Amino acid sequence: MRALVTGCAGFIGSHLCEFLIEKGYEVIGVDNLYTGSKQNISSLPKGQFTFIKKDITKRLKIKGSLDEIYNLASPASPVAYQNAPLATMFTNSIGVKNTLELALEKNAIFLQASTSEVYGNPLIHPQKESYFGNVNPVGPRACYDESKRFAEALTVNYSHELGVETRIARIFNTYGPRMQESDGRVIPNFIMQALKGEPITVYGRGQQTRSFCYISDLISGLYKLMHTNYIMPVNLGNPRETKIIELAKLIKKLTNSKSKIVFTKMPIDDPIRRKPDITLAKRLLKWKPKVALKEGLKKTIKWFKEECL
Ligand code: NAD
Ligand code: UDP
Repeated sequence: MRALVTGCAGFIGSHLCEFLIEKGYEVIGVDNLYTGSKQNISSLPKGQFTFIKKDITKRLKIKGSLDEIYNLASPASPVAYQNAPLATMFTNSIGVKNTLELALEKNAIFLQASTSEVYGNPLIHPQKESYFGNVNPVGPRACYDESKRFAEALTVNYSHELGVETRIARIFNTYGPRMQESDGRVIPNFIMQALKGEPITVYGRGQQTRSFCYISDLISGLYKLMHTNYIMPVNLGNPRETKIIELAKLIKKLTNSKSKIVFTKMPIDDPIRRKPDITLAKRLLKWKPKVALKEGLKKTIKWFKEECL
């Protein structure tokens, strides 16, 4: 099998490449290194892995056949996408189109990495795939949320109109080794702050919730989704919901940190609650997350201690 992974040098992309290579795939990875790093893919075997430094907003030309395309390229952290709103929107529109065109040309199955952000600040809890979401189209998160929504629409219509075999994964907050320490997302922030003895910055009062999925669980879900024939969106995430203040306390405890927990300004449009309904994934993929938050955090803290201190 021959797969293309865009965003291969990022957090999820690098784990996916590793997983596919272990399964015997030949993998071609594409990345513009905006938030990814070559370090993340440096241990992948040269015989099975080829890296192409390229922005997916430029037309993609790949020699030879492709069986599967996993389109993961996109800034994912609010800090990263708010620093480059237009690039984010072009990646999730022109970039997705270019990647879908490649799938059409190669007759490859195409999987789009979508996000729980398509639900915006949800008014329905937990979020089922049938919920249309509550998104501010002109707020600071819109460049990401709206372009990911457009990417979903483009994906299903390449399927309906042009017959491309497509999949859509709505990924909820995922964490683990190889997240960038300066990524700005909550788990790398809290772990690095706790390990360095710096204040742990909880935004608002920390009453907002997220549901955190460990990377190995997400990767097995993505792989299973690719190997169904289901074209509509599927939620992939861990349904255990955690308040951000609880997460701060847990990370402080697991790192034996003396850091103070401080409360700072709540970002505009920060979603208040987030929890996936994974009934569909359970039924369709026979999949559910296996790694508990404490266990996943311990592994992640160990990696940050070894690699980033
Ligand atoms: P990441 O920032 O670690 O990885 C994204 C990768 O895409 C980076 O290597 C970056 O350099 C690359 N990239 C960005 N724009 C590009 C472009 N135009 N052309 C080529 N490469 C480009 O983020 P991640 O957490 O690994 O996220 C991967 C995908 O999963 C993204 O599409 C993201 O929207 C989606 N997702 C992630 C989460 C999560 O919690 N990690 C949640 C929902 C959705
Ligand atoms: N957050 C926080 N402190 C930080 C970083 C994030 O309290 O240093 C909060 C943020 O306001 C949000 C949650 O943690 O409510 C998750 O933020 P993240 O950026 O990881 O992802 P999001 O789910 O918002 O895209």
